[in-house]
Amino acid sequence: MDYHATSPLDPRVLDAMMPALTTDFGNAASRTHSFGRHAESLVETARAQVAHSFGAQSDEIIFTSGATEANNIALKGIAEAYRQKGNHIITQVTEHKSVLDPLKYLEKNGIQVTYLPVDQQGSISLENLKKAITEKTILISIMSANNEIGTIQPTETIGKIAKERGIFFHVDAAQTLGKISMDVEKQGIDLLSCTAHKICGPKGIGALYVRKKNPHVHLNPLIHGGGHEGGIRSGTLNVPGIVGFGKACELAVAEMDKESARVRKLRDKLKAGLEKELDQIYVNGHPTERLPNNLNISFAYIDGQSLLTSLGETVAVSAGSACISGTPGPSFVLKAIGIREDLAHTAVRFGLGRFNTEEEVDRVIDVVVKTVKKLRAMSPLYQADKRSHE
Ligand SMILES: *Cc1c(COP(=O)(O)O)cnc(C)c1O
Repeated sequence: MDYHATSPLDPRVLDAMMPALTTDFGNAASRTHSFGRHAESLVETARAQVAHSFGAQSDEIIFTSGATEANNIALKGIAEAYRQKGNHIITQVTEHKSVLDPLKYLEKNGIQVTYLPVDQQGSISLENLKKAITEKTILISIMSANNEIGTIQPTETIGKIAKERGIFFHVDAAQTLGKISMDVEKQGIDLLSCTAHKICGPKGIGALYVRKKNPHVHLNPLIHGGGHEGGIRSGTLNVPGIVGFGKACELAVAEMDKESARVRKLRDKLKAGLEKELDQIYVNGHPTERLPNNLNISFAYIDGQSLLTSLGETVAVSAGSACISGTPGPSFVLKAIGIREDLAHTAVRFGLGRFNTEEEVDRVIDVVVKTVKKLRAMSPLYQADKRSHE
């Protein structure tokens, strides 16, 4: 239940990839022979599948190694290309590290960044956003949903605000593609980052959407070379990965309504099951504006790490984002929503997905309840607190 970190490869995606991994091995840039032209046609089919999953056109898709690279290209690419226009970027404190770290790098190079705070549910204030805009603002970068607490931001409204002021709008959609409906036209998005391995596709392949019309967005490349992907991202294309990403997008979008409803039901069952058996547990994030597959819970009087270690052999969950799981202390996202330090230490993130079953949810409830009760039985603080309530 750690689908926010990654997801298993769907067998249908593997089937689609097999030819490109074996017989159809051509270089998509080799146009002089049929091997190359065939590989190119596989890539173009996948490009359309990715584009159509969020209302874009094929020629607006640049394949990358994942959402981290897409975020880097978007932020650094805009900052360089529009240096004459302005040097100010607006984001929020709870972005993924692959947005925050490139921005930190840009700050060392003369870019000014406003980090909007979030409220206790993890939402930004649209008033704060409007107030932060200056004559020098060139870009607003706000993720569509958070990878730890699942809070969904009002992407469409942010897109309108950006458009009114003639500012580009970038969205890290790694957690929302295939989970909630994304549409770059309706939501006024100029740049969108996404990745295959969060939607049961292969790892190491993602994409950046770059708007071509109304307005045409220019980017300076990070990787120079053979001029692939419109010169924005040189290097021989990862044809099997791209084919898999295309298939993963097609499946995720075709099955989204049904699958999101199914997963939401499982998530709600998990929440209800834990709440029925355990006192003093608290859900972190937004009660309604939340990804259907996300549940982030603090278990008071437990050390989150001890809980994860105890669960580790049977249940795959995490304390926060996998990308920062090496760093000690509570997650910066939980700090940003202002939850009590002791509760931040006890948070567990559940991320449900395509291959989780109802039977697994029952098992997870059982194991988590037993483990929390066992750990609390060893906690003098919990015992004292319980006596004071009796
Ligand atoms: C997973 C994730 C990323 C990183 O994607 P990679 O493809 O692993 O580089 C970026 N942003 C968010 C919100 C994510 O969840």
